[in-house]
Amino acid sequence: MKRLFDKKESWTNEERKTRQDESLSGMVKLGYEKSARLKAILDQNKINPKSIKTREDLESLPVTSREKLVDMEMQEPPYAGLENPTIPIDRIFTSPGPVYEPHLSENDNLWARAFFAAGIGAGDIALNAFSYHLVAAGLTFHSGLRKVGATVVPSGTSSSQIQVQLIKDLKVTAYVGTPSFLSSIISKAGEMGFDFKKDFRLKKACFAAEPLLPDMRRSFENEYGIDTYQMYGATEVGDVAYECSQKNGWHICEETIVEIVDPATGKNVAPGELGEIVVTRLNEIFFLLRFGTGDLSRIITDACPCGRTSSRIAGISGRIGDAVKVRGLFIAPSQLKMIQAKFNNLPLQANVSRIGHEDVLKVRVEKISPEIGSPAWEDNFKKIFREICTVKIDQMEYLSAGMIKPEEKLIVDQRQW
Ligand SMILES: [Zn+2]
Repeated sequence: MKRLFDKKESWTNEERKTRQDESLSGMVKLGYEKSARLKAILDQNKINPKSIKTREDLESLPVTSREKLVDMEMQEPPYAGLENPTIPIDRIFTSPGPVYEPHLSENDNLWARAFFAAGIGAGDIALNAFSYHLVAAGLTFHSGLRKVGATVVPSGTSSSQIQVQLIKDLKVTAYVGTPSFLSSIISKAGEMGFDFKKDFRLKKACFAAEPLLPDMRRSFENEYGIDTYQMYGATEVGDVAYECSQKNGWHICEETIVEIVDPATGKNVAPGELGEIVVTRLNEIFFLLRFGTGDLSRIITDACPCGRTSSRIAGISGRIGDAVKVRGLFIAPSQLKMIQAKFNNLPLQANVSRIGHEDVLKVRVEKISPEIGSPAWEDNFKKIFREICTVKIDQMEYLSAGMIKPEEKLIVDQRQW
């Protein structure tokens, strides 16, 4: 059986970089010629389009957030002048803003890599429970499913009762949608008198648009026997990353360049550090360079046992507004939650202050069991904290149980700017 979707997924890093750099430089040259907006952006920044030759050169360009794209599109509807007016556009999608996107043709591989990696293919009957109305989700997931050979039931946002009926009558084997909707479908099936695991054939689920919480994942996999996969993308740039059978990071799609940047400067952070996911999709229709997703993640470059050679992103650690920077490195609430989970839901709080010009990171924890605070415990805690957050703790403070109120923030920034 074929292990990879195509040979691109096994390219060496050098090969991938050379090919992507070539596509990027072609895209910038074409964009400069076709898109008045891209020409204006490059001219304003005194950039010769020919000087954008590699992904590193992208750093000289500004990052465009969704908010900024909406403003640009409102000034110049519908596409802010970022489109190629001489290419036929297949479909136009919209997402809240509103923001409009002219979309790639049916020939692109949008989402197909993700479904392939999730083991979906010919013989599968997939329920696509994403909306087909105006937004990109329904139709783009639909085409991705068809690309891997699955049969699609375009159930969209029909009620959970109808979805249960379809899963039963059509012997659906795979679900595509949000995790929360699958949960409500499972509850509805219970109310309707079915045993989800025994009565149905649904054994795979691909999720997007919402975080898949660890306990939710365990419940789908252990209680209902559903193998779960996460996919990540945005209407503006299409599919960005997807999980493979290892479920340890999301592989970056071959058609996209992902940078992890410091949102304050737009410059790339060092490999492994947390930063904003910035995406450039290599294409010849919509010249949106450096789309800032507002999501935080970090890059994993270790080889993945699945055989795909692309780098991965380590899931989503939160939104840029929620993270706090300590000595130049971001800490996100979700990282602290991971630490809590490793220490039996330990109540804790990170506190950032400044002495002179130095940031000081203090972590306060409740002494909910006797070993907390012993030298061995503290060493282990600091080690795990550093592994997850990449930042070193300067001070520890031990509080009695109940001192950190549940409504308090996980990270408190006391610095005055
Ligand atoms: Zn993998």
